Amino acid sequence: MKTIILCGKLFTAEDEKIHKDMAIVVEDNKITKVTSKKNVNTKGAKVIDLSDQFVMPGLIDGHMHCTSNGDTKRIADYYPTTAEETLNGVVNLKKDLLAGFTTIRDEGCNDFEDVALKKAIEQGKIDGPRMITSGKCLTATGGHSDSRYPYYLEPGAHESLVCDSPDAMRKAARTVFKYGADQIKIMGTGGVMSLGDEPGAPEFTYEEMKAALDVANSRGRMSSVHAHGAEGMKIAMKAGIHSIEHGMLMDDEAITMMAKTGTFLIPTIIAAKAIVDNGVASGIHPENVAKAEMCIKNHYQNLKKCLKKGVKICFGTDAGTPGNYHGQQTREFALMVEAGLPPIYVLQAATIRNASLLRMENEIGSIKEGKLADIVAFKDDPTKDMEVMNHACFVMKDGKVYKK
Ligand SMILES: [Zn+2]
Repeated sequence: MKTIILCGKLFTAEDEKIHKDMAIVVEDNKITKVTSKKNVNTKGAKVIDLSDQFVMPGLIDGHMHCTSNGDTKRIADYYPTTAEETLNGVVNLKKDLLAGFTTIRDEGCNDFEDVALKKAIEQGKIDGPRMITSGKCLTATGGHSDSRYPYYLEPGAHESLVCDSPDAMRKAARTVFKYGADQIKIMGTGGVMSLGDEPGAPEFTYEEMKAALDVANSRGRMSSVHAHGAEGMKIAMKAGIHSIEHGMLMDDEAITMMAKTGTFLIPTIIAAKAIVDNGVASGIHPENVAKAEMCIKNHYQNLKKCLKKGVKICFGTDAGTPGNYHGQQTREFALMVEAGLPPIYVLQAATIRNASLLRMENEIGSIKEGKLADIVAFKDDPTKDMEVMNHACFVMKDGKVYKK
């Protein structure tokens, strides 16, 4: 079946240009031609007329948590069951897809629910984006996402795999792959939404970090590190990490290292912003709000330095964290522009740059002959006003239309 999409404006993400009066030819699930409108023969083809819209590649969220709902009270007093988390994922992933996200990377859940959800999407049982999964995260005792279940439930009940030695890290990384996750996620420093840890302080020694990353790297798998503090970022980079998440307390040396090693950075501005904006009144613990305020303070300034130095800044939202709801994480686009990143750079972050982050640049991330037909459209040109990104009008994933 041949489908022709007529585009008002077209941003392919292959370059920084916005093209006018173009057409995209889709056959089955692939893009087979990108050409001027006047060059296409619509006879016998299905025509989708987006002549009054801004068309671009499907969005990629490089950091989110599909099983978390954005509940502001959750950390304080409630842990959902695996069944509840899985059902959250079904609902959230559909919201993400309809918001324009055709591919996402899940950055960790409690019980490998992401692996099951990915399978269900691939089998066509539920609708959702293409998924890259992390399964359970690796953390240290008392570290970020080492949940405080009652002591008598230990050592079985943990939100993450808790490791306190290189051997434990090696075993945990192998366990994550054993249960079907695509990559490993390591909590390299304390975090905002945990209690009693320090976002600035590293959680793991170089030897511990290296043990886990050797497992991932030797298998050609990706890895990401939750790291706010500069020291934790540097330990992870020396040990061979693939991407740094948050990086909100980075220093100049960490910025230079990211640029030099080509390590990707996902700034997740919206995560800290949503916690600060919702505040204690919404039920978030005062310690968490205070840490978010501290983390966001110099973030914009540092991101400008990253841009100047040539750090590869990607797009990720941490959707699912308090006040940061699925389907609304497109608000990150306007925040990245507010931080001083050029609009086209930000659109490329969520498309072609994120595709290279996920090592999928040959399949997704741009509108190009031979790539998968992941195509979305918005009412107006987002480079003039990023708020446009909050309202996707058209979503095609893998050649199938989900929103029109
Ligand atoms: Zn996260």
